[in-house]
Amino acid sequence: MAAYDYTTHTYDAIVVGAGGSGLRATLGLAEQGLRTACITKVFPTRSHTVAAQGGIAASLGNMGPDNWQWHMYDTVKGSDWLGDTDAMEYLAREAPKAVYELEHYGVPFSRTEDGKIYQRPFGGHTTQFGEGPPVQRTCAAADRTGHAILHTLYGQSLKHHAEFHIEYFAIDLIMSDDGVCQGVVAWSLEDGTMHVFNAKMTVLATGGYGRAYFSATSAHTCTGDGGGMVARAGLPLQDMEFVQFHPTGIYGAGCLITEGARGEGGYLTNSEGERFMERYAPTYKDLASRDVVSRCMTLEIREGRGVGKNGDHIHLNLNHLPKEALAERLPGISESARIFAGVDVTKEPIPVLPTVHYNMGGIPTNYWGEVLNPTEDDPDRIVPGLMAVGEAGCASVHGANRLGSNSLIDLVVFGRAAAIKAGEVVDRGSSNPTLNQASVDGAFDRFDTLRHAKGTLSTAELRLEMQKTMQADAAVFRTDKTLAEGVEKMTAIAGKMDDIRVTDRSLIWNSDLMETLELTNLMPNALATVVSAEARKESRGAHAQEDHPDRDDENWRKHTLAWVNGGVTLDYRPVHLNPLLGHNEGGIDLDKIKPKARVY
Ligand SMILES: Cc1cc2nc3c(=O)[nH]c(=O)nc-3n(C[C@H](O)[C@H](O)[C@H](O)COP(=O)(O)OP(=O)(O)OC[C@H]3O[C@@H](n4cnc5c(N)ncnc54)[C@H](O)[C@@H]3O)c2cc1C
Repeated sequence: MAAYDYTTHTYDAIVVGAGGSGLRATLGLAEQGLRTACITKVFPTRSHTVAAQGGIAASLGNMGPDNWQWHMYDTVKGSDWLGDTDAMEYLAREAPKAVYELEHYGVPFSRTEDGKIYQRPFGGHTTQFGEGPPVQRTCAAADRTGHAILHTLYGQSLKHHAEFHIEYFAIDLIMSDDGVCQGVVAWSLEDGTMHVFNAKMTVLATGGYGRAYFSATSAHTCTGDGGGMVARAGLPLQDMEFVQFHPTGIYGAGCLITEGARGEGGYLTNSEGERFMERYAPTYKDLASRDVVSRCMTLEIREGRGVGKNGDHIHLNLNHLPKEALAERLPGISESARIFAGVDVTKEPIPVLPTVHYNMGGIPTNYWGEVLNPTEDDPDRIVPGLMAVGEAGCASVHGANRLGSNSLIDLVVFGRAAAIKAGEVVDRGSSNPTLNQASVDGAFDRFDTLRHAKGTLSTAELRLEMQKTMQADAAVFRTDKTLAEGVEKMTAIAGKMDDIRVTDRSLIWNSDLMETLELTNLMPNALATVVSAEARKESRGAHAQEDHPDRDDENWRKHTLAWVNGGVTLDYRPVHLNPLLGHNEGGIDLDKIKPKARVY
């Protein structure tokens, strides 16, 4: 018998998460007449997507020549040749359509003089297959693009009668004995009631796990809950070693200053006042891709050219830009710089430091969002009834490094794709599955054990230990030694979960218990990250391994798979090298996307 009384809800499809990807999927499912519910632990418009500043990439060509093949090429190169070619093609080809759709739904994009959607330059986005000048491809609503998108998509989802279960915390997946996902078990934070959601399709859109690190630009809610649920269901996580550090987090506070600031003409300087990026990336300078800029900043600091009294950060200069441009194009970051760094951007530089920003890895999927559980014989085997989209998923379009403004477009393109695919595979006429009671009971038992945990360590203490270890040992630069230490320490820290203590036993607004559940999700994500990183003996994208400084395509152009259950078991699956559907309908010149040295 289950440890708790619960209410059962029956839907065709449920979406866990109401960020950009979850809302786009919810909207697409509801639009097709599927009985759809969205379950979210925070109010939809408080999801981390609301904080996205800079914009959303699509080759609209509003500010000069552009096309989807150039966008695809930049994404391939940005991924350091680890992304799946079919998914990257799908992203770049569908992007303009997805942005116009957002425009028609009502997103208030900034405009050009002739009324078209305004686009700004962003790192790694170029013309002529990387041979031409930077391109203006990133569509923006001032520096509040995520805010505008999230509010619009929430309104549209309501219009199509999707049902929302707000401030419900999904605890675990319900899996049948033969590996079909049947829904989720959830806890209502507000009134303490328990819920079982029976669904023919479950879409995980739970966002990233930035909070596994000490200093991150992401919200405190970004705790990798989807990855945790998937790991507990015995399914693998993919490419977890690739963690993006954004070059410009505000020093000390970690809040983000968008890359759009450099897109609008901002640049970085060291203690000598030198624009050092000109030395490292002569062509694209401050607009080289993020992993490159973050590494160069770290090198400058290490070599004694950091700014500030401890010489431990870098300056971002915007004060040469016209005041009107700052007020019109970057109002939000002007405010953040004032509040979090005490800086007037029209007069002084902003102190910045590379800060954890994005997880390229996640739950492996194909480009329809269907979750994969690879085997030796079938590296693309699908888990029936389960999808993952957004930062929680790994399609994989970002490979070893994501280009700025390619996440927002990933959210809407793949949120939409998942809804289309679900519309095809969900049989509306059929009855819902008979739930696997053992799986339901298991989720409640786990919850109950944590609720009554009487160990010696508080959740906050153990979380801090994990965050500091990840920050120190799985950082911008990695070595055999730091990673081996990281694995050892993280294994010990994860082992201490059994000694956790929860002091509040109530069920209503119990943030102690909720944060403990979140820690049980952060932990497998963190462990998979450091173990996958330790195993990868090369440098690629965000994984800069000093003892193995070169990319090794022969041995390492493959996706890492990590099963976390007690320890971590690793395996690998091949990267998809064929264009969409294998028959190259887009007519890509395959020579152009062959691996080569990655210089900017
Ligand atoms: C500060 C900042 C600025 C950024 N700027 C840009 C940008 O300009 N351009 C760009 O392309 N990308 C940007 N990014 C990246 C991008 O915004 C994120 O990758 C993206 O918004 C993630 O969206 P998502 O839909 O995957 O999840 P999120 O928006 O993180 O939402 C996750 C959802 O899952 C729900 N959830 C999670 N766990 C549970 C659970 N257990 N039970 C129930 N619900 C749950 C939450 O309630 C939430 O609704 C930025 C990121 C940050 C942090």
